[in-house]
Amino acid sequence: MAQTSCIAQALTDARSRIAKVERVAGRPAGAVTLTCVAKSQPPEAIDQALAAGQRVFGENRVQEAQSRWAARQEVDGLQLRMIGALQSNKASEAVALFDVIETLDRPSLARALAVAVQKQGRSPELLIQVNTGAEPQKAGVRTGEADAFITTLRRDYGLLPAGLMCIPPAQEEPAMHFALLRRIADRNGLGALSMGMSDDYLTAVRFGATHVRLGSAVFGPRSHVVG
Ligand SMILES: *Cc1c(COP(=O)(O)O)cnc(C)c1O
Repeated sequence: MAQTSCIAQALTDARSRIAKVERVAGRPAGAVTLTCVAKSQPPEAIDQALAAGQRVFGENRVQEAQSRWAARQEVDGLQLRMIGALQSNKASEAVALFDVIETLDRPSLARALAVAVQKQGRSPELLIQVNTGAEPQKAGVRTGEADAFITTLRRDYGLLPAGLMCIPPAQEEPAMHFALLRRIADRNGLGALSMGMSDDYLTAVRFGATHVRLGSAVFGPRSHVVG
């Protein structure tokens, strides 16, 4: 056995914190899945996470993800989740590569995804990104438009979203954003909630996250911030 890596240790720590908050919050053990955010990490870091048993990874860019995972196709049980802004002209490649796309946020992208799903006979799970803080620079449907967008997806595009995703404003208390996302999901009968990052994931677990997205908590601080 190789010595336990820092990354393996960080994953173990994060998992045990998540498990503890699941218990305290009265949620079932294993209710929350840890998504390891791979963006801008070197190959060795990804391989250490894989060696530690991590199988669920988040990616921000289609091209970066393609090259990373083309080299690791033999990994069993891998789940790749698109968590970055997706251009409609990359929809086809995204449908081919990802198991989950978390950032569906507009009709033009819905149309492109629906065409790709039809052509490829492959349907990644879809989450809708909601811009809970109504930040102009951030992607996502506005909270007041979420219900109508969900209806449009189902009725006009034959797409059945599985849940919602949000990235709260950096300077605000995240809890209210998590609570808001959960209310929108509940009233639309959606089960999956991707919310919570390294700084606020335990709050997100308390508020009902089913997926937390961890980058720096696993890999350490990024030298530069991407996407
Ligand atoms: C980078 C990123 C994360 C991880 O951020 P950390 O704060 O490093 O955990 C999570 N979600 C999205 C959408 C990201 O772009």
